[in-house]
Amino acid sequence: MTVHLAYNDAPDTLPGFEGSEKRIEIDFYPSPQQPATGGLRQLSKDQLDELMTLAECEIVSERHSFDFDAYVLSESSLFVYPTKFVLKTCGTTRLLNCVKKLIDMTSTLDMRLRRFKFTRASYKYPQVQPAPHQSFEQEVDTIEKSIGDHVPPGCSYTLGDGRQGLQWFVYVTDADRINPYMDRSRVTVEVCMTELKEEKAEAFYHLEASGKGSTDAYAATTNSGISAIFPRTKIDDFLFEPCGYSMNGLQDDAFSTIHITPEPEFSYASVELCGYSSDDLQSVVADAAAVFKPGQLVVSMSSADATSFAFESSPLTPSDMYLIDVTKQFFSCGGGVVFYRYASVGPEEQICKGVPVPIEDKFSCSTPPQCYEPGHNMGLFQEPEEKDQLGGLQPALKQSATSTVIERYCQQLPSSSDKDMDIFLRSAIEKHGFDEVFYAVDLGVVYRMWQSWVKNLPRVEPFYAVKCFGDKAVLALLAAMGAGFDCASPAEMESVLSLGVGPERIVYANPCKKIKHLKYAQDKRVGLMTFDTEAELRKIALHFPAAQIMLRIRADDPAARCPLGDKYGAEECEVEKLILLARELDLDLMGISFHVGSGATDPSSIPRAISVAKNAFLCGSQLGFHMKVLDIGGGFSGGADGVALETVASSINTALETHFPAVEGVKIISEPGRFFAEACATLCANVFGKRVRQSAEPHLDTHAYWIPDGLYSSFNCLLYDHATVTARPLPMVDEEKKSVKLWQSTVFGPTCDGLDQVLRSVPLPELETGDWLVFKNMGAYTACAGSNFNGFESPSANTVYVFSEQQ
Ligand SMILES: *Cc1c(COP(=O)(O)O)cnc(C)c1O
Repeated sequence: MTVHLAYNDAPDTLPGFEGSEKRIEIDFYPSPQQPATGGLRQLSKDQLDELMTLAECEIVSERHSFDFDAYVLSESSLFVYPTKFVLKTCGTTRLLNCVKKLIDMTSTLDMRLRRFKFTRASYKYPQVQPAPHQSFEQEVDTIEKSIGDHVPPGCSYTLGDGRQGLQWFVYVTDADRINPYMDRSRVTVEVCMTELKEEKAEAFYHLEASGKGSTDAYAATTNSGISAIFPRTKIDDFLFEPCGYSMNGLQDDAFSTIHITPEPEFSYASVELCGYSSDDLQSVVADAAAVFKPGQLVVSMSSADATSFAFESSPLTPSDMYLIDVTKQFFSCGGGVVFYRYASVGPEEQICKGVPVPIEDKFSCSTPPQCYEPGHNMGLFQEPEEKDQLGGLQPALKQSATSTVIERYCQQLPSSSDKDMDIFLRSAIEKHGFDEVFYAVDLGVVYRMWQSWVKNLPRVEPFYAVKCFGDKAVLALLAAMGAGFDCASPAEMESVLSLGVGPERIVYANPCKKIKHLKYAQDKRVGLMTFDTEAELRKIALHFPAAQIMLRIRADDPAARCPLGDKYGAEECEVEKLILLARELDLDLMGISFHVGSGATDPSSIPRAISVAKNAFLCGSQLGFHMKVLDIGGGFSGGADGVALETVASSINTALETHFPAVEGVKIISEPGRFFAEACATLCANVFGKRVRQSAEPHLDTHAYWIPDGLYSSFNCLLYDHATVTARPLPMVDEEKKSVKLWQSTVFGPTCDGLDQVLRSVPLPELETGDWLVFKNMGAYTACAGSNFNGFESPSANTVYVFSEQQ
């Protein structure tokens, strides 16, 4: 593709290209109706194109992760999160012209503006900027006209010495500065560099188009050293013709972006990181300087949280550069920015060269900065926080991880219909030589259940209950899609930790834990756990005092298939006493959990439980706890029978909005097991015994069959899970169903126990030994609870995988 970089006016009318970018970062309140992955991401490509046209640039490349969308533009970059919109454009674009349209578009998505921030460095050629960018005043004026009634009037700040070097301009307003629930901790670092060393800048010319430089974007990224700055990042890079370079990086929910104008007369490079941890940021300025060897470098570090590490520590000073001045500005609407300016010549040399030296009194930070030796680190970054690795699966990679899991395990199937499934089962029998019993797991079902969850319960993060069906591919797929996990024992934790899932994605939702297991959880830093008794609190205080505990309350559906309320959950009258004890023991009470019972049948049970949980939250806050998590447990049907998710979702969403409105920022999690597992597994069993008896009494079964799986194995679900199962014969050739005579039949399991009966009095055509029976919906609470009684092995060792494209 030939895209001529950004000279969107004829080059000869311009003194040179304006590399310096304008940037807006707009935060919105989440809309309760939007899926978790939706929000602003629902804006169509056409709508984004329309916005970019207003700003006078266009999208040239895009990447998507589970957390956000990243676009490379003809002039810089665009990032779209569910509730955050970051647009950065250079040259003579008219960035602010798209703001009003964006606000219009978002209001149709039912999203309200929360925070607006505009930043830029000084333009190199301010005289050629078109309206509304002819001056900072004009820019602020335009912003306020565009967003006027939505947020309170903002503040504007200018940082740095106007007589030399670049200055930093900030306009910011926040409608919600006092809301303690909003996550304000993201730090944005913007590095702007000028006077790039020519041999360093050369990598960003397009070899074919200009006779020097790099063959393509990938070569530019690697040869310049950029890729080394972002080792864990997924990079979308673009080399313009004849020269110029842009890249977007996606790492977890953080992004990075680099834009380079390499021509020596007006060379410019910017490096931005947004949402990275202090650990990642410590060396970025020095790293950027090493790649470009600039004459001048300015950095702004900003955050909406005034207690952020951005204000406590400073970046490592690049080698061969001097820190010239520092300005710290707190915003009256919350948060602030620190602005650093570095130069490759020291202050003495600057005096010799007749450049004015910064004067003391313009420093607004409390400790007057001095000039430092090159390479001196003037402050320490805080201890790096525990890395939010999202389980080692960088969310940027989630999408590709999902397809990797699917590709690794699965054959594709057009649909999950009986007909298509039969074709697959027959081929599996032939391919693997199965002659007894095996499972066919359809990951397409799990995938669609996930989508259905996200669509129906956008605010509720699922933590899959591993005990329900611990199949490794199901776990891997859910992990890849971003699920958390509910684990009740070290073995279950191990099975998800070993997939690379981080401990912060696990809830240890067993209210009564063995001491040894608590110590294991502490060791693995699985902190989030439930409790419901005094004894458990004392045990936690003794063995894992830093745990983040959730009080499990009793709020059950007595009509559930497997009620849990007799065993677990604090009664309403016990709640206050338990919270008081948690306070006395100095424990970290994080939230409230409940489980209405597995296979709940009453659609109002969860909404009712949510209101009971709200009372517990209120009780907690009266006792001084600021709880942050509500765990609404499991109990959701997987679609075989029982209540469909669609039926319960809207009343759950309404109850959440009533008692835990999104703006309060309480994180909502859940522990569905059956929902994901139930319909994904099909059990196939080979008939190895047969008896036909003429019966005088018409209600007695005439035909009986033996299969190698029974009540002591997969079909324990008949006893423990109160399940009902159905069987159909597997036709060995693909043919239209003929009407055949049906007989009242019994299906026995293999053990010698008379109880071991799978089906009684079901109509089946006459079968022979060697025929196959197919049992659908065998995922939930089946093989996982089977035994080897009588020397019969579990069938789960024989599992084949398939991915159906649709239902
Ligand atoms: C079993 C269990 C679940 C899963 O329940 P489903 O009904 O399968 O959704 C969730 N949480 C806890 C604590 C459990 O014991």
